[in-house]
Amino acid sequence: MKSHTNIPWCSAEEWNQVVMSIKTIDRLNRDKLQNIYDMAAKIRQKFDEISEPIEKFCSLTCVDCEDICCVRATIWFDLKDLLFIYFGLNRFPEAQIVKKKDGNRKKACCYFSEKGCMLERFERPFICTWYFCPAQKNYQVLYYQKVKLRIDQTLLEIKDLRNKMEEEFIRISNPNL
Ligand code: SF4
Ligand code: SF4
Repeated sequence: MKSHTNIPWCSAEEWNQVVMSIKTIDRLNRDKLQNIYDMAAKIRQKFDEISEPIEKFCSLTCVDCEDICCVRATIWFDLKDLLFIYFGLNRFPEAQIVKKKDGNRKKACCYFSEKGCMLERFERPFICTWYFCPAQKNYQVLYYQKVKLRIDQTLLEIKDLRNKMEEEFIRISNPNL
């Protein structure tokens, strides 16, 4: 899990700035961004391939969980998440993720609900899909080796595409680098 000492774009002003910057770079460089749009589309497709088996692991393990990761962890959108959501889904999240208290419950990710995450899998920070807790890993090892291999491979492909997408975006944004 990432350290949360430096969560980016927590204020509305910072969030608006990063959103405006990405939109401006898109507007000024449309002719150079096709590769980024293509990579984002591939990421979306790969999320679709693994969503169903991952939901199955969640349905087997999360219902009785007493140490829910969405409560325990501090999660936020990073630049790769924002680039994928913008170039792949043509939108931005409304704001950076915060932890909030809901009634008598402990503080949890603002997208956490009684029914689990309120976001579609591809809208969540990638870390939420990348992370498998020990209970899920046990299930995978015991019963779903082949599925696990396929998911692991696809997650690595998404990770690689995200890195390339960010590298290319930074290169286009800073032509003097
Ligand atoms: S993924 Fe694991 S830690 Fe998170 S809620 Fe499900 S069982 Fe609990
Ligand atoms: S975005 Fe969804 S999956 Fe990720 S921590 Fe928040 S509630 Fe959990």
